[in-house]
Amino acid sequence: MVLKTTIQGFITAVKGLFLTVRHLFGARKSRNIRDIRNENYFKEQQGITTVQYPKEKMPIPEVARYQLQVDIEDCIVCDLCAKACPVDCIDIQSIKSVGVIGKTSDGSVKRLYPEKFDIDMAKCMYCGLCTVVCPTECITMTDQYDRSTTKLTDLIYGFSDMTDEEIAKRKEEWTRFQADKEAAKKK
Ligand code: SF4
Ligand code: SF4
Repeated sequence: MVLKTTIQGFITAVKGLFLTVRHLFGARKSRNIRDIRNENYFKEQQGITTVQYPKEKMPIPEVARYQLQVDIEDCIVCDLCAKACPVDCIDIQSIKSVGVIGKTSDGSVKRLYPEKFDIDMAKCMYCGLCTVVCPTECITMTDQYDRSTTKLTDLIYGFSDMTDEEIAKRKEEWTRFQADKEAAKKK
């Protein structure tokens, strides 16, 4: 019994040593950067597993879901993305305009100003739902994944391009428009 256990222990130690030596020799070669779309991607992985990041980067699949991007010029501020978000990480505030502001590249009419359009990427779970519901397809997931930071608030991305002066001006326009409407009703 003791002899059997000793032999088994010896065999296991030899197997472990063999594996270590194999990896030791394998580590002399750097891992090649391969396109993940290659049919033999997993079979071609030889050498050490660490790539020299950030000088070298692993290729990512076309359908990868990483950092969000919003083309604010094409946004109609409909809030659908924020409503669809399961973790409430999209914060949108709008200001009504007194008329049509313009059109998006797909011809949708813009009637709201984006006072605030923040996405907290620290909370985002990269589900992509916001991109699916967007009627103008202006919110998209990019291939950017390495925006590391030590400050959590840096991960709140602001996409509104309105200045404080512009926000104040548009709010005043809307308040005046409403007041004029009320005054006209009383006449
Ligand atoms: S990807 Fe998902 S979690 Fe992230 S902002 Fe869009 S809906 Fe929210
Ligand atoms: S769903 Fe699209 S158009 Fe609507 S607020 Fe979000 S990004 Fe803008």
